[in-house]
Amino acid sequence: MEYEAVIGLEVHVQLKTNTKMFCGCINKYGGLPNTHVCPICLGMPGVMPTPNHDAVVKTILTGLMLECNIATRCKFDRKNYFYPDMPKNYQISQYDEPLCEGGAVTLNLLAYPKDAQKLETTVVDKKVRLVRIHLEEDVAKSQHDEGQSGVDFNRAGTPLMEIVSEADMRTPEEAFAYLTALKQILIYGNVSDADMEKGQLRCDVNVSVRPKGQEKFGTKCEIKNLNSISAVRRSLKYEIDRQIEVVSEGGTIRQETRRWNDVKGETAVMRIKEQAHDYRYFPEPDLLPLNTSLGLRSEAEVLMPELPSAKKARLATQYGVSEYQASVLSSEVALADYFEKAAEAAKDKGLVANFLLNDYLAINSDLSTIAVPAPWFSELANELTAGKINSKQAKEVFGLMVSDNPGNLTPLEIIKAKGFVQVTDTGALEAWCDQAIANGARSVADYKAGKVAALNALKGQVMKLSKGQANPQTVGEILEQKLKAL
Ligand code: ADP
Ligand code: ZN
Ligand code: MG
Repeated sequence: MEYEAVIGLEVHVQLKTNTKMFCGCINKYGGLPNTHVCPICLGMPGVMPTPNHDAVVKTILTGLMLECNIATRCKFDRKNYFYPDMPKNYQISQYDEPLCEGGAVTLNLLAYPKDAQKLETTVVDKKVRLVRIHLEEDVAKSQHDEGQSGVDFNRAGTPLMEIVSEADMRTPEEAFAYLTALKQILIYGNVSDADMEKGQLRCDVNVSVRPKGQEKFGTKCEIKNLNSISAVRRSLKYEIDRQIEVVSEGGTIRQETRRWNDVKGETAVMRIKEQAHDYRYFPEPDLLPLNTSLGLRSEAEVLMPELPSAKKARLATQYGVSEYQASVLSSEVALADYFEKAAEAAKDKGLVANFLLNDYLAINSDLSTIAVPAPWFSELANELTAGKINSKQAKEVFGLMVSDNPGNLTPLEIIKAKGFVQVTDTGALEAWCDQAIANGARSVADYKAGKVAALNALKGQVMKLSKGQANPQTVGEILEQKLKAL
């Protein structure tokens, strides 16, 4: 029997706001424990919450970017539970009237990490539907070591969005692609930095298996403690195999919450899953329902960015870069912005894309380390396009410009300092070609015998004789003429 996995994700996203969700404390990662706190986020009795305007607008913006229906009216609810990370014994969340419902995340091809070759050719256009997005407050962070437990309330009360997907994913790769695409959009909208390692994006995975062809879902397990996108993929792979093994041996899956152990690479039972009614949700009496049509929605609409897919299409048409290059460039908004500045004054925009993607990012992988003013790319590319330097020299200038440039010289200054010129004077070129032919009897014979590649050896000789300053294209043409005439 063949089995298929069914996967749904619950993603918590920390919103990038100045202050916390219901008080005026600073919303900032790090800091000494319990230094960003006040009676409200410490959950003291009798305090009153005030909703954070910016957090509401950013949640609506997220809903708009993900094609959700934005509720015109929504309300907050108390989710009751008992744990030291929430001394008031309830979390303010949203239950039956969330801010956003429906919507979808379109899986982005580039999110597929395996088989890099396929990136250029395969077209995947799968939409994973969303159930809802709601807004809540984060809880404190508990730490346990050496028999002692401590609670840090700096995170308590910070704004948190929960994005719940439909169980539309079927493979660990799709879950990986989903998270990658979601993260990209959150960063595009500047609603969160969405760094999983910092806990700004936290993901619980729900997974079940069923015989292929069966419509009814199997019993699901929820996996927690996933600290990276790759942990999501690895844990899913493990858990799917485990469930298939149980089911194919005639056993049944128990609905439970399991913890991922990243070191051991396995999941283990954490607790038997609680149900929503265990939380005894009820409306938060201290907060009025929100009416989003009184300006909140239009504030979010103004913030709507150009989305990744639109940016990709625009970069391809406006700059004439390949579809693949456009995908890579639009994968990060900072990269796309940098490219647009770098290519602005270039005659050949594709050259700039090549320098940035092939010569810089392929080696450095992190754009934030580049300290080069973007217009330098255009300056360098234009020297090459105008034939003032050749491509080998351009590469050398580029290397110096980005990584070994103590004097902070511009490309033109580097070219001058290096004495780079491209010799296009045919008299000089012909002399070098004659010399290379005279010294390269073997290559000449090979070429005459039909080995076209032998031309490259002669070309190399000319480049050497010219100390790299000959125009390689013209050299090739002259050599060919001379060899044919021999
Ligand atoms: P719960 O009440 O246990 O929290 P929900 O219905 O709220 O469950 O769903 C939580 C998440 O689990 C959603 O992302 C949903 O798509 C997913 N999910 C629900 N049922 C299944 C299933 N049988 N297999 C896999 N994922 C599921
Ligand atoms: Zn506070
Ligand atoms: Mg649920």
